[in-house]
Amino acid sequence: MPTILETYQQTHTRSAILAERARGRFPSGVTHDVRYAPPFTLFVERSAGSRKWDADENELIDFITGHGALLLGHGHPDVVAAVQEQMSRGTHFGAEHELAIRWGELVQELFPSMERVRFTSSGTEATMLALRLARAYTGRDTVVRFYGHYHGWHDLLARDSEADRPVGVPAALLGSTIVLQAELDALETTLANNPDIAAVILEPTGASYGMVPTSDAFLWGVRELTLAHHVLLICDEVVTGFRVAPGGAQERTGVRADLTTLAKVLAGGLPGGAVGGRADIMRHLDFGDAAWTREQKIRHNGTFNANPLSAAAGVATLERVRGGAVGKQADILARQVAAGLNQVIQAHKLRGWAAYSDGSIFHLVAGVTPGFEPGVVPGDLAASEYKKGGDPQILGALRLALINRGIDFMRGRSGFLSLAHSEADVAAAVSAFDAALGDLANEGVI
Ligand code: PMP
Repeated sequence: MPTILETYQQTHTRSAILAERARGRFPSGVTHDVRYAPPFTLFVERSAGSRKWDADENELIDFITGHGALLLGHGHPDVVAAVQEQMSRGTHFGAEHELAIRWGELVQELFPSMERVRFTSSGTEATMLALRLARAYTGRDTVVRFYGHYHGWHDLLARDSEADRPVGVPAALLGSTIVLQAELDALETTLANNPDIAAVILEPTGASYGMVPTSDAFLWGVRELTLAHHVLLICDEVVTGFRVAPGGAQERTGVRADLTTLAKVLAGGLPGGAVGGRADIMRHLDFGDAAWTREQKIRHNGTFNANPLSAAAGVATLERVRGGAVGKQADILARQVAAGLNQVIQAHKLRGWAAYSDGSIFHLVAGVTPGFEPGVVPGDLAASEYKKGGDPQILGALRLALINRGIDFMRGRSGFLSLAHSEADVAAAVSAFDAALGDLANEGVI
């Protein structure tokens, strides 16, 4: 019987050829670090609904859904029609256009804290601009962020922990961020002892799209502490925005951020981001008299800001999402995936394994040592264990075994549900997971 690796190699011969071609073009043959995966990355040719087909015509149920951007699934007819219509009208006018206003109105309707909105081309740009705004408004330089939270790849927030020295980032910049564990005591002490803090930025449901979950009480605690210390709160809702509720984590919890960053679902599967918030902070993007414009205005351009195609896809998506039903349905399916995976984990008696979900996103930890009861994440699991996700060798093998069985999980351990997913898709994923565990057992990986 072929091994997991042999099966992957035998059934993905065209992906292997493309990967070889890509290696001569792109560093490590990929255009996004998350797609780097031994023995070679998967090449996909087309997608529809909850499915995608790879270069060898293998059909996959897709749980990556555009790195979380496609809450309506692949190729939703409303989005396709809106983009095609816009394509025929024009893709860039070098001028403002009405669709961007509609886009902004929808954002403001769902995120009342965003009194003014500025569109960008990505989530990374949105968090960069949010920090610039926070520094301009407060006149302070230091920013607090939390261990494992991801806010894009730029220099300003590149440091993931106090010990982290990301290569290529100016040493002078490292001191401008303080990285804390997601603990209120640590935050309180830091805010009390450091008068130079402009803002606290966080992912409101926890690090890496909730992989390291935090409670709503934590978010509320951060809000209260930031208010008490006159420090701005930046909610990075690039993933949670429009997903955990139409108005993101802010709607779900009632917390109101000073600044919010959005991307992914915002632009309906096309590139796009946004930053928005209190009008008095956003004022630093406004023109004014000569002195204001020279001394207080943030200069901000961007060739593709609010470009008509992204606006068209974004408006079509947000029109479908705003009622809340889309998100609720996806939430239920994510809970079903987590429950189904946990049943399988229990049946296989796998200590140190468990699945969990928040909103329409699910995660898995596999092979955490020392173990815990199968299918039950212990309340005191360390953030570093959540983030690591267990045993990298197991996760690597699991990812391939699942792909062999027609299921694509992000990094083999997470997934984003969409409007296009069905209960049958969930059932198929759970049974493929069961079979994949059999494959892992056969090879002695578990
Ligand atoms: N913030 C968060 C919370 C994210 O998850 C991401 C991307 N995964 C970003 C910012 C950066 O967004 P982008 O990839 O669009 O630059």
